[in-house]
Amino acid sequence: MLEEILELRRKYDEELKNVNSLSLLNDLRVNYLGKKSKIQEFSEGLRDLSNEDKKEVGKAINDTKNYIEYSLNELRINLELSELNSKLTNEKIDVTLPGTKLNSGIVHPITRVVNDIEELFISMGYDVLDGPEVESDLYNFEMLNLPKGHPARDTQDSFYITDEILLRTQTSPVQVRTMLANLEKTPIRIICPGKTYRKDNDDATHSHQFTQIEGLVVDENISMAHLKGTLEVFAKKMFGEEREIRFRPSYFPFTEPSIEVDISCFNCGGKGCNICKGSGWIEILGAGMVHPNVLNMCGYDSKKYSGFAFGMGPERIAMLKYGINDIRNFYINDMRFLNQFDKVEKEWYHES
Ligand SMILES: [Zn+2]
Repeated sequence: MLEEILELRRKYDEELKNVNSLSLLNDLRVNYLGKKSKIQEFSEGLRDLSNEDKKEVGKAINDTKNYIEYSLNELRINLELSELNSKLTNEKIDVTLPGTKLNSGIVHPITRVVNDIEELFISMGYDVLDGPEVESDLYNFEMLNLPKGHPARDTQDSFYITDEILLRTQTSPVQVRTMLANLEKTPIRIICPGKTYRKDNDDATHSHQFTQIEGLVVDENISMAHLKGTLEVFAKKMFGEEREIRFRPSYFPFTEPSIEVDISCFNCGGKGCNICKGSGWIEILGAGMVHPNVLNMCGYDSKKYSGFAFGMGPERIAMLKYGINDIRNFYINDMRFLNQFDKVEKEWYHES
């Protein structure tokens, strides 16, 4: 049998010389190592041999098997390498062919407005702060001069988790948190953008979820003049250099005095059109001087410190700026709506 094994090995060496592809290599592997191979036959024949022959022949079978496995493996590596090399030389890349178009997203119009406002206030020395959207009744209402049972709470009905925990109706709790954390350190100059929630029925101008940006400044000797100057800068930056602003008396529980702020119409310049409903002015935000009760509750002596606060809705600003007539468009993820801002954004970058 030893002679037969040697003969098999010579035959294998001969055949190996002719293998020049991976598929031929595989055929050879099946022929020499597979279930119906000679090697397998020899192994089965071992049981008919004497113990002494078994040892010798068994060793010869194993050696041959190892030799075949090793040489097949070595050849496989070489063949794979040369196949890769020939692929690399044959497949040339034509760099003049047009590429695959990549779909890139754009910044959501609300995010865009929020980013612009943040950038403006950061340039005026403000910090941008964030706070929890699930808030306590204490921070959302009571510390803002809206005790339980206050009639003005009705205008801000919310989603309650418990009697004391709710989805915030405004970003003002961030102002409370900031004042409490600063312990009479001044100045405080912050804006707080974020999501807010009210139990409104959704229609063209109301959404149960919307965005707010509030601002707060607290220091010694802060007056209404500081508020006016700040909001004028804001109006000109967002709606054009020619904009003027107008204050109208109003009521908010957390400010005294309270005002509504209008800007001169950017569409007609004040002559009257359908955007400003003929008045020449557009209501843009609410503001006022921080109520002494709020200052006192938040740990600031209202005799020494004063401050102003303002709050605006980026949705409303975006609707005015882009002529959008339904607030729900911002939330329903209709690509036909959102894709329009691709063009707006490109024009924007082109301008700036
Ligand atoms: Zn107008």
